[in-house]
Amino acid sequence: MPRRAVIVGAGVTGLSTAYHLARKSYGNITVVEKGRVGDGASSRAAGIITGLLWSETGVLARRISLARFRELSGELDGYRFQDVGCLNLFDAASWPERERLLPLYDRLGVEYTVMDRTGMAAAWPDLALTGEPVGLFDPLGGYSEPEHYLPALADGCRALGVEIREGCMVSDFIVDAGRMAGVVAGGKRIEADAVVSTVHVWTLKVLESIGLQLPLKSFVHQRYVTAPLPTPVRIPAVNANPYGGYVRPHYGQRLLAGIENPDAPEFRVPDRTFQMSTITPPPGLGEVARENLLPLVPLAGRAGRAGRADHADHVDHADRARYTGWEIEKAGLLSFSGDGEPVLGPVERFPGLYVGVAFHSGGFAYNPAAGVLLAGCVADGRPEIDIGDFSPDRFDSRDTESFNRTRITHGEYSLPGHSRRH
Ligand SMILES: Cc1cc2nc3c(=O)[nH]c(=O)nc-3n(C[C@H](O)[C@H](O)[C@H](O)COP(=O)(O)OP(=O)(O)OC[C@H]3O[C@@H](n4cnc5c(N)ncnc54)[C@H](O)[C@@H]3O)c2cc1C
Repeated sequence: MPRRAVIVGAGVTGLSTAYHLARKSYGNITVVEKGRVGDGASSRAAGIITGLLWSETGVLARRISLARFRELSGELDGYRFQDVGCLNLFDAASWPERERLLPLYDRLGVEYTVMDRTGMAAAWPDLALTGEPVGLFDPLGGYSEPEHYLPALADGCRALGVEIREGCMVSDFIVDAGRMAGVVAGGKRIEADAVVSTVHVWTLKVLESIGLQLPLKSFVHQRYVTAPLPTPVRIPAVNANPYGGYVRPHYGQRLLAGIENPDAPEFRVPDRTFQMSTITPPPGLGEVARENLLPLVPLAGRAGRAGRADHADHVDHADRARYTGWEIEKAGLLSFSGDGEPVLGPVERFPGLYVGVAFHSGGFAYNPAAGVLLAGCVADGRPEIDIGDFSPDRFDSRDTESFNRTRITHGEYSLPGHSRRH
C-alpha cells in the first residue's frame, strides 16, 4: 500500500510541504483547504526574504529557502524569484543588538555587507534615506510576488500528482491508539499515515479538538501598493525598521510598502470558519505609510502626494486607497510563538502529526525551507538540518497557558535579539 499524507491548509507552507513531499515520491498526498488556495495570509504577504535572521536555526533554514527560491524559479511555470537583495536598516539604538550577530553570520559563512548612508546612496540612487541608518545588506535576499508564486506552486503540486481539495474544512482528527491516523474533512474521513497541520492563525481552533495547545499570538498587519510609477524603481527589498516598515519594487512598475502598527491589539480567531478576507487595514495607517515610507523613494513619494485629497476622511474604503495614493491595500494576520521562533516539526504526543506555524512576519520567506524540512520529517523521519529549536514540544504547558491568557499589543510583543521583520 502506498503511504498517504494529508496536509491541512493550502497556503504557502502547506503547498510547499506537499510539493517537497511529492518530489520525494512519498505516495498519495492530499492538501485539504477550507477555502481557496492562498485564502489565508499567503496571498496578502509582501513576499520579502532575508537570510540574516537572529538565530542559528533560522539562518540555516533561510539558507535553504534562498537556494530553493532560486531553483523554484526554474521548476515552476510563471514564477521568478526577484533577486534584488535585501537591505536591512537599523538606527543607532537597534544596530548594536544586530551587530552582535555578525560573528554568527561569519561562522556560518553567510554573506553580508555593512553600509553607511553614503554607501547606500551610491549603490541605490532611487533610495533617499534620512538620518544616519546603518545598512546590513543581504546580497542573496529579495522578494517573490505572491500572485505569481501561489498559482505556480499549486500547479507544480498538481503536476507531481498532489490532490488539492478546496472548499473542504477539516473539523476533526482521527486518532488511533494514540497515533494520528487521518482527518475528518468536509464530513468525510481521510485516513493517512501522516497529517501535517499548516493552518497558521487557525491553529489553536483546529488543534483544540485533540487538546493540543501551543503558545501563539496573532496581530493584524497591512501593506499597500502605489499606482504605476513613471519609471521603474531600482531598489532592493528594504526592511526599513527605523522608518516603521518596509518597501520593495512591485510588478507593473509600482512600489509596495508595509507599515508596522505597535498599537495593534492581539487578534483572536473566533472559530474555525473565520475568513482572513474579513480583515481590513485600520483607518489612518495608509496615510502613515505614505508619510513615513514614500519619502524613502522620492519617485513614488511624488506619485503618492499627487493622488491625495483633503476630504479623505469622507470617502469610502475603496476610494480611500485612491485618495491616499495607494492603488491596492491588503491586510491579514501574522502569528508569533512564545519565544519568537517558528513551530515546526513532529508532535511527540501524537506520532504521525506534524505542525508548521508561527513564522512571525516571515512565513513567506520560510516556506521553501518549511516544506523541505517538514517533508524530510514525514518521509525520512529526519529533517535536512537540526530543527530542535523549532520543535512543537519545546514549550512548557503552564507557560503556554499563561502566554495565551495574557492579552498584549503587537508593540508589547518583543523578544531579545528578535527583529520583527522578514
Ligand atoms: C500584510 C502582510 C505582509 C506580509 N509580508 C511578508 C513578507 O514580506 N515576507 C514574509 O516572509 N512573510 C510575510 N507575511 C507573513 C506571511 O504572509 C505568512 O507568514 C505566511 O503566508 C503563512 O503561510 P501559511 O501557509 O502558513 O498560512 P496561510 O497562508 O494563512 O494558510 C493557512 C491556510 O489554512 C486554511 N485552513 C485553516 N483552517 C482550516 C481547516 N480547518 N481546514 C482546512 N483548511 C484550513 C486557511 O484557509 C488558509 O488558506 C506577511 C503577512 C501579511 C498579513
